[in-house]
Amino acid sequence: FKKIDINEKAKDELTEMGRTFNHMIDLLKENYEKQQQFVSDASHELKTPLTVIDSYAQLLKRWGKDKPEVLDEAVSAISSESKRIKEMTNQMLVLASQDEAVTMELQQVNLAKTMFETARQMETTYHRTITIQTDGHSHFLILGNEMQLKQLAFILLENGLKYSEEKLEVMILKRSENFELTVKDFGVGIAEVDIPHVFDRFYRVNKDRNRKTGGSGLGLAIAKKIVASHRGTITVESEEGKGSTFRIVFPVLTEEEVDDEK
Ligand code: ADP
Repeated sequence: FKKIDINEKAKDELTEMGRTFNHMIDLLKENYEKQQQFVSDASHELKTPLTVIDSYAQLLKRWGKDKPEVLDEAVSAISSESKRIKEMTNQMLVLASQDEAVTMELQQVNLAKTMFETARQMETTYHRTITIQTDGHSHFLILGNEMQLKQLAFILLENGLKYSEEKLEVMILKRSENFELTVKDFGVGIAEVDIPHVFDRFYRVNKDRNRKTGGSGLGLAIAKKIVASHRGTITVESEEGKGSTFRIVFPVLTEEEVDDEK
């Protein structure tokens, strides 16, 4: 009888192992498919600027010596498309490194301070004004990585400046256990059909319009990743022709998490 018992137990364990194994295979497969999609999207996106560079190089070869206007146009196109490739590859590296779930260094970060600092830098670069309002709460402390949070601020503010000629308003509020950060612009807005996709990798609304602004469609995908790794959520409300509001909610540091020395 004992022998039968052991067999039964072994059978159960084997079935359980089989299940776990199948589940692991599914996860690996899903991961692999995602990676493949990423590589295929990435190569597709890189091809466009490379084609432009190539055709301007041909033009230069033919007319560059005789026509200074062709020379000027070609050099500036090649330079701006190269910059675009550089920026895109940098962004891809950020996404890839976050995929590997690198253990990020966490510290107490003052969200308002991060926003103020990033906004000041952007104002200088873009020669535009960004208004920032808070509800007077003095410590907007969250547990996070300052560099990543600055990048998040940069992505949202840059979009607000790129897709709007009007004012850009930032608001930071404390709402019970959360901090709410909103970036509001009064620009082109996003159509209802596009809203569910703007956080997807490489997604751009109206490719031609955005080509002029040199976007890669990766900014908001990175923003979403950063927010998620900070236990937060990001959403957008928008109306075409009226503007967009990006809203991020982060959990406030709990009592235990607050480091009194800071
Ligand atoms: P991109 O590099 O193209 O700006 P993002 O991932 O940052 O990529 O944004 C994806 C798309 O979402 C943009 O191409 C643009 O069409 C739309 N979008 C993002 N932010 C705004 C905004 N503030 N106003 C209008 N459209 C926006």
